[in-house]
Amino acid sequence: MPSEFVKEVADVFAKDGPLSKVTANYTPRPSQIEFATSVAEALEKGKTLVAEAGTGTGKTFAYLVPALLKDQKVLISTAGKTLQDQLFTKDIPALLKALGMGCRVALLKGRSNYICKQRLEHALQEDSYVAKSREEVVHLHRIKKFAGQSVTGERGDITDVPENSGIWPEVTSTGENCLGPNCDHYNDCFVMQAREKAKEAQLLVINHHLFLADISLKDNQITDFLPEFDLVVLDEAHQLTNIATNFFSQTLNLYDVRNLAADAVSQGYGVNKQIDWNGIYKTISNACDDLISTTHNILNTKDKQLAVAKFKDKHLLVEPFKKLLNAVEKLSNAVHVHKEASPEMTKLDERCTEALDLIEYWRDVFNGKAVSRSMKGPLLDWFTVKPKNIFFNTTPLSYAEMLKSAREVQGKPWVLTSATLAANGDFKHFIDQVGLEDAETKSWESPFDFKAQGMLYITEDLPTPSASNFSDEVAKRIWPFIKKNKGRAFVLCTTLRAMEVISEALRYFAETEGVSMNILVQNEQSKQELLRRFRSEENSVLVGSMSFWEGVDIKGDALSLVVIDKIPFPPPDDPVFEGRSKELEAEGKNSFNEISIPEAIMLLKQGAGRLIRDEKDEGLLILCDNRLLSKGYGTKIWKSLPDFARTKVFDTAMNFLERCQEPRG
Ligand code: SF4
Repeated sequence: MPSEFVKEVADVFAKDGPLSKVTANYTPRPSQIEFATSVAEALEKGKTLVAEAGTGTGKTFAYLVPALLKDQKVLISTAGKTLQDQLFTKDIPALLKALGMGCRVALLKGRSNYICKQRLEHALQEDSYVAKSREEVVHLHRIKKFAGQSVTGERGDITDVPENSGIWPEVTSTGENCLGPNCDHYNDCFVMQAREKAKEAQLLVINHHLFLADISLKDNQITDFLPEFDLVVLDEAHQLTNIATNFFSQTLNLYDVRNLAADAVSQGYGVNKQIDWNGIYKTISNACDDLISTTHNILNTKDKQLAVAKFKDKHLLVEPFKKLLNAVEKLSNAVHVHKEASPEMTKLDERCTEALDLIEYWRDVFNGKAVSRSMKGPLLDWFTVKPKNIFFNTTPLSYAEMLKSAREVQGKPWVLTSATLAANGDFKHFIDQVGLEDAETKSWESPFDFKAQGMLYITEDLPTPSASNFSDEVAKRIWPFIKKNKGRAFVLCTTLRAMEVISEALRYFAETEGVSMNILVQNEQSKQELLRRFRSEENSVLVGSMSFWEGVDIKGDALSLVVIDKIPFPPPDDPVFEGRSKELEAEGKNSFNEISIPEAIMLLKQGAGRLIRDEKDEGLLILCDNRLLSKGYGTKIWKSLPDFARTKVFDTAMNFLERCQEPRG
């Protein structure tokens, strides 16, 4: 028997319930009501619910209604800023209005989203040193003006400083360089004020990174910034796994080491002019250069990811690491004797100690005798080589225990939700990753009429994806569709190389045939700018790699064709994926079935999900990977896709696309 509370929740979604008063043409959605009542039950029983809800289910209201009716303190965490802003500025106010309720709502973003007054002040004193160009000097002064007028100090509110301006890292803080209570601006600091508001909120919207920081107490500045909550909702939960992998990793980044030395130069001469701070900086910078060039030479490449266990010549990096260690020790000694001189010097002293720990650890890794002092569980040491930097990472192969114990310590219900958490209704892969074996799992299909609204065309006769001419053939096959559709297409590629080949070929076809086509390509402009142009400019095609597979919502006529080049299996040379696969194999499990296929399915569902975003959308999805038809695992993947009409016939697909262009009745 449903409780009174569960019935009360269901009533909100009734045909003539409160939601109908604020929503045009409101129609109750059974899946939304079931989701909401499941959250209500989880709240009553203190359970964890893992819920997959297809696009259009209305999951935000489904979890918000029970939480608000119960008058509980709720923490909502999202993966990205877009959903955070949408919840805070649109969904939550609309729901509160519908329910006739008031509630203290707060939005807390990561610290890099707020101007740091202390660093801004420092940058203004040294603008010729901090700002790298005349443009950045202009940006710096605009930020100064804004900071003087703004109440929240949120950088997203500044419209005349581009998001990618190089000045931002100089005027925002990190956990490493924030002076905390020792800062002169502590009492009027934008970050601290946002955190104070967060403490008082009844409903707080944060991101997964802050959520993980809170549960791991990793960032000392924010150990107590989140109060107790009665319900935790993790929306966009499919991204929790990647975010957690990065979050729980420890990284030595040579760019940060150089920055540490540069910060010491800018502070050091103020406390002791006798020390050759510039000389120390140069020694550190040279040691970093030496480490980078030695690694490039050994690997014979400037772009690679590699597990240390697979690096045969690792002993050759011991000497460059010793050189770097000596250089940073020299800096550390110089800073240490002046650590009481100012809060900045105290902080620099702490940063030197942390850097030394990491450098020592990595010297020992390459010496073959490292033991991590601060991390537990099976760990993977690996590194990413870039032309001007190297990232040395230590990553736990599983963080399931950390999340599990955090949930047990909190002892409150959690709801984890997303449109893609399961592979054909099987949540095992996700549950194993997040360590919530006792969670109840439920899923609801999208309420859209996929069979009528969409068609999936599988190109049976293209070469196999491993063929050298595969991407060229993909471009040839999809061009007639793109031309017929006047663009309005997303081409989602699994690699940057495929993206380059396909976009070049499409540009060539457009030029030689004299067709006006606006081919927008990832990395040629910022993501926001590409999406803005895609929405507003006619005949647009957006060719992108992974960053466009999810979190992009384009409704209506602007997008009616989505192309996916290959099944997005995890890259086999990704060291973390390889490390996790080996762990599973060691337990006698099949890593292809347990990791590769579920991950490919979830990402493919995300990519396919870009096509139909509301009940009026129509469009064609083209999948160019014939392994869907020829391989045994293909059926499993095929079944997991939205229930579109399906065809292998070019003309049928083309006719469907033409039909999508007809005016809608
Ligand atoms: S407390 Fe930290 S974030 Fe705030 S102004 Fe000071 S240094 Fe910046």
